[in-house]
Amino acid sequence: MKKPMHHPILISFVSSISFVFSVFLCCFFLSTGSADGQTAPRLKKSSPLHRARQSAEFAAQAQPRNIILLVGDGMGATQIYAGMVAGRQELNLERFRHLGYSKTHSFDDLITDSGAGATAFSIGKKAFNGAIGVDSDTMACETILETAARMGKRTGVVVTSSVTHATPASFLAHVPDREMHEEIARQIMESKVDLIIGAGKKYFDQRKDGRALTANMRERGFYTAFDSASLVQIPKGSRLAALLWDKEAPKMSEGRGDFLPTSTRLALEHLNDSTKGFFLMVEGSQIDWGGHANDADYIVREMIDFDRAIGVALDFAAQDGQTLVVVTADHETGGFAINGGDWSSGRIEAAFTTKKHTGVMVPVFAYGPGAHAFTGIQDNTSIYKHMMRMWGFTASSPWPWRKSAPEKPRRSDTAE
Ligand code: MG
Ligand code: ZN
Repeated sequence: MKKPMHHPILISFVSSISFVFSVFLCCFFLSTGSADGQTAPRLKKSSPLHRARQSAEFAAQAQPRNIILLVGDGMGATQIYAGMVAGRQELNLERFRHLGYSKTHSFDDLITDSGAGATAFSIGKKAFNGAIGVDSDTMACETILETAARMGKRTGVVVTSSVTHATPASFLAHVPDREMHEEIARQIMESKVDLIIGAGKKYFDQRKDGRALTANMRERGFYTAFDSASLVQIPKGSRLAALLWDKEAPKMSEGRGDFLPTSTRLALEHLNDSTKGFFLMVEGSQIDWGGHANDADYIVREMIDFDRAIGVALDFAAQDGQTLVVVTADHETGGFAINGGDWSSGRIEAAFTTKKHTGVMVPVFAYGPGAHAFTGIQDNTSIYKHMMRMWGFTASSPWPWRKSAPEKPRRSDTAE
């Protein structure tokens, strides 16, 4: 029998390569092992190595059926830490194992507003401050919510502001100026969205043009609800528009109660009734307003409320195993700092550098299939790109729903 001849140096080269490779594999599986809590309770009984391998494969497949994007408006790292310290509790945000940072600047300004910030998430392009669902040429672009709807997924938005406010509007409408609330409401009425829960009834029903858009929405198959009692009566899986307050939702300190976590749970019950999955955007809208007011107590209460909604989303995703949860912010507000305080009593000495937004990076948290893509430092537009890539979707261009967004000169100032 002929024995193949091997050069001794070649053998040692090959064996050291394979040694290095196996060390690399071990490190890879060990490091991805920490992601395992992410991948589902159903893997719990397996061996650690098996679980690690499954986790790595799971993350690599990166095909979530559902995506829940939670936006804490104005939520920088200090807002989060203030929630932990002053709230004297662990936050649900501490359950995440995949973290990153997002670069928040808009097309024309180092300091973004919430319109351009949310538009980066909704269309994946940098826009002018004040822009809603349009690119830097103020051309309407199909939002991820609209693409998801066109591809047969169910879609929804839950916010603690008016549903026409900049963040939700950026997923539902296309206007060059965020202040066009009545036009945004009209576009929401005409949109394909399945579920909206928030405030802003007056932009639908007390309009300059005299129209009552909620009646039009009922004609289009929406259930409408103007109080929480009628909201919970709506049959599961229906299209619904719940506008519980005329203009804006009250603060937590004014008795908003568990509106946001409860509405998030309700939205998941409605939207999950589908084999094709869903896209849900949830916003903790008023963390930003606490920052504008330089009011640390306002920030902390809104932060903790938003975190409870995050907990609802995480619990759902852990059960479901096919849901990607992404939590981030559009920008930081207030230049909020903690200059002193006491961990055990939860006292914080708050300081602010501005009543406006700041230009710092903001955290990104991800959980579930595809979560690894959100680690590292990335542009805010990447959040859209990763979500779309994971679903294998591309935005229809030109925007397929209507010819173009209505023309109006964009605002030059930096808005809320
Ligand atoms: Mg907002
Ligand atoms: Zn703001």
